[in-house]
Amino acid sequence: MKRPLKKWLLDIYRILEDTYGVQQCFLKHEDPLQLMVSAILSAQCTDANVNRVSPGLFRKYRNVRDFAEADIKVLQKDIKSIGLFRAKSKNIINACKKIIKEFGGKLPSEMEKLVTLPGIGRKTANVLLCHAFDKPGFPVDTHVQRLTNRIGLVKTENPVKIEMIVNKNISEEYWCSFSQLLISHGRARCRARNPDCEHCEIRNLCEKKI
Ligand code: SF4
Repeated sequence: MKRPLKKWLLDIYRILEDTYGVQQCFLKHEDPLQLMVSAILSAQCTDANVNRVSPGLFRKYRNVRDFAEADIKVLQKDIKSIGLFRAKSKNIINACKKIIKEFGGKLPSEMEKLVTLPGIGRKTANVLLCHAFDKPGFPVDTHVQRLTNRIGLVKTENPVKIEMIVNKNISEEYWCSFSQLLISHGRARCRARNPDCEHCEIRNLCEKKI
């Protein structure tokens, strides 16, 4: 018999919420611009690593103009401990230049505008919608990709398709926290290698327990 998809998904959500509690943004920030910079820095890098570097960075670069006018060599040095620091420095500077030139110095809060900024893809734009602007958004990272496939919700690695399927089947008020909860579960239990299916809280609802 076909399972009622929406109820099944909400059941998973509820169990994960009971397990991990209400989730805050994993990247430390005090305003939308700081979150944008941290999100650019976090590509292929752990949030913990970004959170180690970002407080010092935000003491030095206090606003969009400070980043836009930064000397790229100096900024590269400031974020050198983070992977891909050359490309990330360039993206941060160019994104901030564009924010000044096209958006009046203020980070826009619409998906269509956010994805025009250098270094901002759909995942990062969704992170910004959720955590900087309190709007619905479902960021799909590698944990979310893996989890949604393993539990049997999707059969695709395509992040946009995953986002659309989730958006269709769970109310938008849950999008942001559902993504956070899946990430927490991916880190704690459903790891890429050696998932702990034996002790998994959603084992009975997971299609592909290993
Ligand atoms: S049962 Fe295993 S595969 Fe399914 S969500 Fe839990 S840890 Fe992941």
